[in-house]
Amino acid sequence: MAAAAAGSGSLSSLRLRLSSRLALVTGGGSGIGRAVCQRFAEEGSAVVVVDVDESSAEETLRSLPHGDQRHSVFVADVSCPQSVHSLVSAVQQFSRPPCVAVNCAGITMDGLLLKMEAEAFERVLKVNLMGTFLVIQAVARALIGSGAKRGSIVNLGSIVGKVGNVGQTNYTASKAGVVALTKSSAKELARFGIRCNAIVPGFIDTRMAAKVPPKVLDKVLQLVPMGRLGDASEVASVCAFLASDDSSYITGASVEVTGGLFM
Ligand code: NAD
Repeated sequence: MAAAAAGSGSLSSLRLRLSSRLALVTGGGSGIGRAVCQRFAEEGSAVVVVDVDESSAEETLRSLPHGDQRHSVFVADVSCPQSVHSLVSAVQQFSRPPCVAVNCAGITMDGLLLKMEAEAFERVLKVNLMGTFLVIQAVARALIGSGAKRGSIVNLGSIVGKVGNVGQTNYTASKAGVVALTKSSAKELARFGIRCNAIVPGFIDTRMAAKVPPKVLDKVLQLVPMGRLGDASEVASVCAFLASDDSSYITGASVEVTGGLFM
């Protein structure tokens, strides 16, 4: 994707905005999460790559500059309270509380409303929405408990959480919830110096988008003013901005990264 690479900014011209930070990235084994890990590492952060799939998280680790000297992998299921609790405790013991957390772990289990099993609705809500809640809560508790004076949490919503989508009642509800969760968390955590923002992507070229039937994707592309899918690195660069002090007066915001879709 030449156009995408050109749009993602020249790293050589950037400061190391995230040096001395420890960032925890869920869903770090694939797609947007992996791109976030790579971008953060390039900007000087130590990265904790978290995923339910250990081998993909290890693959991300190997792709990072300074590999396992600075960065680490933790396996966790964000939908499980005990798993998230153990994750954040282990990271703290291994190093310190992460002052940046990015919630990229997410799933789809698509189906039409009239045919969807309650389990498919519940599972998507558990991973995408409750998982985001659990990580925000655990990281915020750890940061506040350690006396840290600043933190930045970034959550992944979706543009379909704003406009709805056929076959995705569960996913769209979860992503609308993520935006509301972000705003409420921002209100509660501001007094502790912790900012909380959401990124609302359109259609990004990852494994998740590859599951969308080609016919549907073609129709979507006709609606995108920029006429192409987004690249994961283009979401990661916004994430780096929201994680850094360059966004020090931004909290409770939702930033659309959609190529203009549904603006
Ligand atoms: P992806 O499928 O490539 O990556 C998701 C990652 O999350 C995988 O590595 C997976 O193993 C991990 N994961 C799934 N369940 C987990 C769990 N319970 N605990 C821990 N890790 C778990 O998807 P992606 O496209 O990179 O999506 C990343 C985020 O961005 C998701 O929240 C997704 O909803 C959101 N998003 C994606 C798009 C898109 O077009 N790709 C658009 C809007 C929003």
